[in-house]
Parts: sequence; C-alpha cells; structure tokens
Amino acid sequence: EQEVIRCIGCGVQIQTEDETKVGYAPPAALEKEEVICQRCFRLKHYNEIQDVSLTDDDFLKILHGIGQTDALIVKIVDIFDFNGSWLPGLHRFAGNNPILLVGNKVDLLPKSVKYPKLINWMRKSAKDLGLKPVDVCLISAVKGIGMRQVMEMIDHYRSGKDVYVVGCTNVGKSTFINRIIQEVTGEGNVITTSYFPGTTLDVIEIPLDDGAAIYDTPGIINHHQMAHFVDKKDLKVITPKREIHPKVYQLNEQQTLFFGGLARLDYIKGGRRSLVCYFSNELLIHRTKLEKADELYAKQRGELLQPPRADYMDELPPLVAHSFTIKEAKTDIVFSGLGWVTCNEPGAQVKAYVPKGVSVFMRKSLI
Ligand code: GDP
Repeated sequence: EQEVIRCIGCGVQIQTEDETKVGYAPPAALEKEEVICQRCFRLKHYNEIQDVSLTDDDFLKILHGIGQTDALIVKIVDIFDFNGSWLPGLHRFAGNNPILLVGNKVDLLPKSVKYPKLINWMRKSAKDLGLKPVDVCLISAVKGIGMRQVMEMIDHYRSGKDVYVVGCTNVGKSTFINRIIQEVTGEGNVITTSYFPGTTLDVIEIPLDDGAAIYDTPGIINHHQMAHFVDKKDLKVITPKREIHPKVYQLNEQQTLFFGGLARLDYIKGGRRSLVCYFSNELLIHRTKLEKADELYAKQRGELLQPPRADYMDELPPLVAHSFTIKEAKTDIVFSGLGWVTCNEPGAQVKAYVPKGVSVFMRKSLI
C-alpha cells in the first residue's frame, strides 16, 4: 500500500500528476523530508495565491458550508465572459447571506462604456439568472481600478462579519485576493490556510482588524468555457489582455465570419448590415462567402484559421451550428469565453458555430 504524503502547510494529500489540481507538488519535492504543496510554497515564499481547481462535489460542499455561516459573499465574475463565468446556483446556497457581485476585467471593455449602464446591465442579468445581489461593482484587479470602492463596499456590507470570496477559475480571483492582501495585511500579519469544514480543501484566510476574516475559496471549473478547449498558447491568443477594439463588418447575406478556427458566424438573411465584433485583438477574423465556408474550414483549420494551432486541432471537438433569429435591436450573439457579435438592428437570421460543449446564446447588448 502506498504511503499517503501530506503537505506540511495545509495538510492536503500530495499528488504529483496534475499541476492544476489541489495538492500538487513537483516530483522532486517528494525527496525532501517535509513536503509542501506548490500552492503553500508560493503562499509562503511569495505571498502569492495560486488557484486550484476542484471537483464539483467539493465545491458544492463549500457553497453549502457558506450558506450555514453568517457572512458576506463576494461573487466575482469575468465581465468579458459574464455568463460563462457565472456560478450557477449560488443563490440557493447563500441562505440569507448578502451577495456582493463584482465584475472584474473592466479594463478590457472599450473606454466609451458607461459604468452605470453596465452596472444596471449586470443587475438585470443577475436577476434573470436568479440572483439578487445587495450591490454590484466593476473592477480591474490587474489595473487596480475600483479596488478602493470594492473594499469600502465589502466593509460596509459585511457589518463586522466574515467575508467569503467565490468565483470560477480564470475570473481573476487570485489577482483580486492578492491585491486585497496588499491592502489589508500590514507587516507581521500572517495569512493562514485552514480546512473548510466538511471538505479536505483549504481556504486562504486573510485576517481583518476586528477579528473577522476574508476567506478565499478555491475556484471551480466551468467546463463549458472555451478556455478548457484550447491549449495554453492558444488561450493566450483568445484571452484579451488590453482594451478590446471592436471590429465592424459590413456583411451581405450569405457571408461568413470565422473567428480563428474556433467559431463561425453565418449571416443568412436580413439585408446588408453591419455587425460589431468584440474579441481579443489578437484573434484573427476571416470573412468569406457562405458557399465557400465549409471548404475553407476543411482546408485551412489550424493554418489560416487558427487557433487551434495545427498540432492541437484534433483535440478540438467539431463545430456545431446553432440558428438564431434576432428579434430585438441591440442584441449580442455570445460565443462563451471567446467574445460576442453585436447586431444593432433586429431582423437578422444567423447561424453560430462553436465547438461541441461550448455555449452560444443571445443576450441584450452589453455595450
Ligand atoms: P483565478 O483563476 O480566478 O484565480 O484567476 P487569476 O487571478 O489567475 O487570473 C486569470 C487570468 O485573468 C490571468 O491571466 C490574469 O492576468 C487575468 N486577469 C485577472 N484580473 C484581470 C483584470 O482585472 N483585467 C484583465 N485584463 N485580466 C485580468
């Protein structure tokens, strides 16, 4: 029987196979007398939080646990991938706890975007998804935009109670927590990890002056996010790093746009019109005639149409088509995690293609 090795920092069972999962340590670490997991190592030496993924089941236990406590819940979403980064069902677990909704990565949106309008949009979208947050705010954890305001909101709504920060992977939760650590922990303050009751998972505890604490919970993977369908290099291409420059296409009926080789939009019917594309500036958009689209895709996938890169394209599930009729003015067709296309006037008939398992849907325009 194999001996179970535990991390001296957090007590989690050590594994050396998957860097993205809890308890990972590089194989060389096992030769030491005291083994520390990579996550605790980073925390200890760099005061840096690394996110780990966990199973849905463990996450449900955490949510359930939070519902049993008296606390403020801070829910972080990625404003560029609002629906894809949404944690469904949180309201069912929150109990009577207030939820503060934080939209991160606001630096990615065009500067012309008005914050109050966007906040209203978030409120309405949250309500449609069954959540009624006590408040909503916009931040950029990377750029430090809105950090003071969100800290003030947290302090106001927690009324002396603990705070739990939740969010799925990639929303920028670690970046956010690292910023908070910089702001709230003075020198000599120790950040500790502790088990979450009922799970083997540790949460990061950031002590606050009044004896309460901010807890960083592990992020859950939303499996339908585009991020999980591409490799690391391609992920860099599709993840916007700076302000998105919308690209406007004047399209005739029966024309097609390819978003790299990851998604496709056929403009079927509705007269000549312009479509506004919001994607990472690095993602190439290719226009062609609908009648040539299939052939182009078959020939150029992994070449002209990338990502996916050629050596990775066989791992990508086949594209599946979803038909939409745009009934209202200012509608977005969202390719979850990749971007969206805005139709300003109603009446267009389109077909949107995404890899099987990735979601595509319509929403009221964000911008
Ligand atoms: P976590 O998985 O939720 O902990 O997310 P991370 O903090 O590791 O961030 C995921 C990715 O989003 C990283 O590439 C970050 O650099 C990026 N990111 C985090 N916050 C922001 C932000 O405010 N703006 C932008 N543009 N990117 C961000």
